[in-house]
Amino acid sequence: MTVTGKKLENPPLDEIGRKIAKSAKIAGRKADEVALVAVSKTRSSDEIRPLLESGHRVFGENRVQEAAEKWPALKAEYPDVELHMIGQLQSNKAAEAVALFDYIHSVDRMSLVKALGKEMDHQDRHPPCFLQVNIGEESQKGGCEIAAVPQMLQHLRDAGIKVAGLMAVPPEGTNAMPYFALLAKLARDNGLDGLSMGMSGDFEKAIKLGATHIRVGTALFGPRETSES
Ligand SMILES: *Cc1c(COP(=O)(O)O)cnc(C)c1O
Repeated sequence: MTVTGKKLENPPLDEIGRKIAKSAKIAGRKADEVALVAVSKTRSSDEIRPLLESGHRVFGENRVQEAAEKWPALKAEYPDVELHMIGQLQSNKAAEAVALFDYIHSVDRMSLVKALGKEMDHQDRHPPCFLQVNIGEESQKGGCEIAAVPQMLQHLRDAGIKVAGLMAVPPEGTNAMPYFALLAKLARDNGLDGLSMGMSGDFEKAIKLGATHIRVGTALFGPRETSES
């Protein structure tokens, strides 16, 4: 609890902080240009609380339903929490997502752009959104086609959505670096600074290639018990 107001140590969090600082330094960047999104999907409130007690405030979830069950109570205790939606989002969950999340990383198609734009107007709440790009051109994966990025960005803006940048999840089991580099180039070409890329296994590479938001789960919380997308 926050009774003493003292921040508790959290070794994994501290170690990731050191790695972020080191990678940023190597890249000639400042560590505070990189936001650590602690991915708390599948974790209970009791598992999340130690990070909050250590002072961490930025969290990511991949399911609206799960986030809606955990976070309103935690936000009541820690009102300055910043909640990021990082998972595939269905248009029929747009209202809930706009109400609950402060950033959305997974906007990738026109139907979702329309649903989010409408809800943002309706709720007068405008969480910035990343356009998710299918950077490895994998048929089963979310994200818009690489060639469609400029057009999709225009659609987001036309719908009144604040564009935070680009997001991608590179193909599993491959060297992520060329994909990170490609996403960074796409962002540059489109005049964007925000880059949501890098997970537990590759966030240091992502930072060296310009990541502004890394999404880290297992390196903070340990392995997840259930398999999920
Ligand atoms: C689960 C997830 C992460 C975190 O993955 P870890 O390997 O546990 O760090 C990052 N991004 C997305 C989109 C995820 O679904």
